[in-house]
Amino acid sequence: MDLFEYQAKALFAEYGVPVPQGKVASTPEEVRAIAEEFAAAGKPRVVVKAQVKTGGRGKAGGVKVADGPDDAVAKAEQILGMDIKGHTVHRVLVEEASDIAEEYYFSFLLDRANRTFLSICSAEGGMEIEEVAATNPEAVAKVAIDPLKGAPADVAADIVAQGKLPEAAAAGAVEVITKLWDVFVGKDATLVEVNPLILTKDGRVVALDGKVTLDDNAEFRQDLASLASAAEGDPLEVKAKEKGLNYVKLDGEVGIIGNGAGLVMSTLDVVAYAGEQYGGVKPANFLDIGGGASAEVMANGLEIILGDPAVKSVFVNVFGGITACDAVANGIVQALELLESRGEDVTKPLVVRLDGNNAELGRAILNERNHPAVRQVDTMDGAAAQAAELAAK
Ligand code: GDP
Ligand code: MN
Repeated sequence: MDLFEYQAKALFAEYGVPVPQGKVASTPEEVRAIAEEFAAAGKPRVVVKAQVKTGGRGKAGGVKVADGPDDAVAKAEQILGMDIKGHTVHRVLVEEASDIAEEYYFSFLLDRANRTFLSICSAEGGMEIEEVAATNPEAVAKVAIDPLKGAPADVAADIVAQGKLPEAAAAGAVEVITKLWDVFVGKDATLVEVNPLILTKDGRVVALDGKVTLDDNAEFRQDLASLASAAEGDPLEVKAKEKGLNYVKLDGEVGIIGNGAGLVMSTLDVVAYAGEQYGGVKPANFLDIGGGASAEVMANGLEIILGDPAVKSVFVNVFGGITACDAVANGIVQALELLESRGEDVTKPLVVRLDGNNAELGRAILNERNHPAVRQVDTMDGAAAQAAELAAK
């Protein structure tokens, strides 16, 4: 599992690796509050950094230095919502700005090819290490780590020397490297990368960036779940996970609910196909409510989907099997009541297709309820076309 930078830095701090002070925010208001705290502490200059699990944020405009709270808010407004290599920025890290004298590169990783651990160190930091390795290979030191010995001070000093880090940074870098090894072992990481590791103008060595990959196989002894739940980007996906739903956000306009992963997948296909006639309308999500389809699960699913502002219509596609259509229809009716009792107005059109076991009975139940948002279509293709047409309006 990959961590966000702010999570990586929290682990670094836990092990005594120097990192800039900072906090995470998901709104401009939160950014202002954090920047004001820094300003009050005499540190008006902050960096606003996109929290996405991909590199090259700096180049993409996702890392910006700001002069005080107003500027931090302005920078955060540019960064929040930005797309970096297909990752939407939902949160930013607001940090005290560092005065950088030099930027280096350092990492520990699992070297599968050589069945050992490896450290990589270079005085040429800041840019992608692959680029440095390609253009200036002698600037990149690769030092194998004996797992039984680890990286105590003498090993770290050797790494620093081979990486040609300058004298001014040597002692600080040795200390950081020994502690990063403790992070690597203590957290069962397969990668701990710091790029850049910086020397500040006042002579301190600080981890300015952090990328950590934890080994999922260590789940039995590491608390990966808390890192994962905080980590997963889309807020609707986080909410769905909390409710135990199998939901994936997509970028279209037709909300999709179905019972059974295979049915939901083919529903995505037919909706995308039908949507081509309506200016490229697409499915807004994947949501499999499974076999049971109880009122509560249906209500939770509808709540997530209706809470997505991109959704213009919803297609509920059910094939009755062991759970018959009348049970699902009752589930839908109760779900609508449940949502309305929670204060949710169900006004977006719901196109329901019931087929399979007890389909007639199920349809009759929905007809009798006669909810203004609900319309029934008997075939999957017909329902997909209607949902796409409603979304296009
Ligand atoms: P990445 O592009 O995703 O690897 O993001 P980084 O965290 O490595 O930041 C990219 C670059 O932004 C760094 O190499 C620095 O040059 C610059 N940067 C980040 N934080 C600061 C800071 O506190 N002060 C200054 N002056 N530059 C910073
Ligand atoms: Mn970086």
